[in-house]
Amino acid sequence: ETIGAMLARIAAQWPDREALVVPPQDVRLTWRAFDAAVSRLGAGLLQLGLAPGDRIGVWSLNRAEWVLLQFASARAGLVLVNINPAYRTHELEYALNLVGCRALAIVPSFKSSHYLDMLRELAPELGRHPPGLLRARRLPDLRHVLVMGAHAPPAGAHAFDAVAACDDPAAHALLDQVSARLSPDDAINIQFTSGTTGAPKGATLTHRNIVNNGFFVGEAMRLSERDRLCIPVPFYHCFGMVLGNLACVTHGACMVIPGEGFDPLATLRTVAAERCTGLHGVPTMFIAQLQHPQFGEFDLSSLRTGIMAGANCPVEVMKQVVGRMHMQQVTIAYGMTETSPVSFQTVPDDPLERRVDSVGRVHPHVEVRIVDENGDTVPRGGIGELLTRGYSVMQGYWGDPRRTAEAVDGDGWMHTGDQATIDADGYGRIVGRLKDMLIRGGENVYPREIEEFLYAHPAIADVQVFGVPDEKFGEEVCAWIRLAEGAALDAEAVRGFCQGRIAHYKIPRYIEFVEALPMTISGKPQKYLMRETMVELLA
Ligand code: ATP
Ligand code: MG
Repeated sequence: ETIGAMLARIAAQWPDREALVVPPQDVRLTWRAFDAAVSRLGAGLLQLGLAPGDRIGVWSLNRAEWVLLQFASARAGLVLVNINPAYRTHELEYALNLVGCRALAIVPSFKSSHYLDMLRELAPELGRHPPGLLRARRLPDLRHVLVMGAHAPPAGAHAFDAVAACDDPAAHALLDQVSARLSPDDAINIQFTSGTTGAPKGATLTHRNIVNNGFFVGEAMRLSERDRLCIPVPFYHCFGMVLGNLACVTHGACMVIPGEGFDPLATLRTVAAERCTGLHGVPTMFIAQLQHPQFGEFDLSSLRTGIMAGANCPVEVMKQVVGRMHMQQVTIAYGMTETSPVSFQTVPDDPLERRVDSVGRVHPHVEVRIVDENGDTVPRGGIGELLTRGYSVMQGYWGDPRRTAEAVDGDGWMHTGDQATIDADGYGRIVGRLKDMLIRGGENVYPREIEEFLYAHPAIADVQVFGVPDEKFGEEVCAWIRLAEGAALDAEAVRGFCQGRIAHYKIPRYIEFVEALPMTISGKPQKYLMRETMVELLA
C-alpha cells in the first residue's frame, strides 16, 4: 500500500475524528479535511510542473505545512528530502546538491534563524527570475522555492498557501492518475543520518519501508483511533515523521503538535489541554518537563503511552515518566535511519525492568543476527555486530552504490555498525558502536561501559571514551571529560577513582579536560573528531 492510499482508507474510516491539531497555528483538521488538504497540495505541486521522482526539500520546524507536505509529496510521487533546521548554508548546499532538489519549502524564520536570508546568501539570483524559473549558480537543480506562512511571498518564490489551495480540476485529475500508478517500492523520502561517524548519508526510503515501520511502531504502542499523540520531536528526523506522524496515521490516531521547536512548558500545556494519551521525546525532553517549576500545575492523567528513544534512557527518568507522568505503557526503541528506522522495541507487556535495561524484542517481519568479525553467528548471549534484514532496509544511499554495498550485503543484511547482544528471552541490548570499540593488548574494551562508570563521579558532567593508536598495545584508552560547574579534578584523581573498581586495561591512559565535546546537531558525540585531535596531539 502506498502512503496516499493508506491515508485515503483511514480518512474514509473515521472522516469526522480529529487528525491534526496544531494549537499555535490554530489548525484543527478532521481526517476528511486533512485528506482533502493533502490532495489540494499534491495537485498544486504537480501544477507547478514537478514530476514523479523529483526531489522536494523541506527546511522547516514542526508546522502543519510539514505534515501536509509529507503526505502530499508522497501522493504526487515526489521524493521528500528532510533537511535539518539546524543546518546552515554550507550543509544546506551540500544536502540540496547531493540529491538534486528541484523544489524547496521553507519557513522564513524562527527565533534567530533567518532561513530566507540564508537561502538568499546561497542563491542571490532568487528574485531575478519569476517563481519556478530560478537559476542559481550554487544550487543548479533548484527551480522552485515555496515560502510558508508569509502573506505575500518574496519575489521569485511561491506562497506555500497558494500552492496548497489548488482547486484546478485538471491538476486534481493528474494527481489521481499519478497516484494510481505509484508502487509501494517507489522512493518516497530521503532522510539524512545524524553524522555521528562522518558526513551525513542520505538514506533513500520507500513507501513500503516507512508505512510498515510506522504501523508496527503504532502496534507496539497499542495505538487506536481513540489516541491523541503529542509530538514535540522534530519532523526532519525519523522520530517525528515515522514514529510520530506515520504511527498515528496508520492507526487513525490524532497528531497533536505543540509548537515549532521543543519547549517544555508548551508541551505540558498542550498535553493537558488536548487530553493527549501519548507523548514522544528523547530523554532530555522528558527531564526538562519533569524539572519544570510549573510541572505540578498540569493535569497529565490522560497520558498512557509514548516513546523514549534516540539515546540511552536512564532508569531514574523512566521511573519518573511512569510514576509522575502516568505513562505506564511508555516504550523504548532502537533503530537507525537506514532501517526506516525501528528494529527493536519494548511493548507494554514487558516488565518495567526489561523496558529499562534492554531495547526490547525484535519487531515483526525483521530478521536479526549477531555476528563476529568473521561473519559467523555468535552463540546466544554473545556480543557482536548486529545485522538486520527485512522490509525495513533502505533502498540505498542516494547516488552512492559503493557505500550502499558496504552497508547492505548481497543477501540483504544491513550491517548496522552497532554491537549488540540478545538474551535467552529475545531481549536486545546495544553495547556500543563497532567503530568505537577498541582492542587494547588483545582485550576488547567497550567505551560505553567506562563512560557509564565515570558518569557516577559527581565532578564529571560529561565524558566520552575512545581509542587512539598505540605502538605497544595496538590501541590505548583515551577519555575526554567535561567537568561540572565549579568542580576541580585532575587526571591522577580520575585514575585513582578507577583503580580497583574497573579492570586495569580499561583505565584511561590519556585524559583531557575540555570545555565542550564535539557533537552533531542532534546531540550525538562525534568521537571521530576527538580521535583526530588526539592523534595530532600525541604525534
Ligand atoms: P551516522 O550514521 O551519520 O554516523 P547516526 O548513526 O548517529 O549517524 P542515526 O541513523 O540518526 O545516525 O542514528 C542511528 C544510531 O543511533 C544507531 O546506529 C545507534 O548507534 C544509535 N541508537 C539508536 N537507538 C539507540 C538506543 N535505543 N540505544 C543506543 N543507541 C541507539
Ligand atoms: Mg549510522
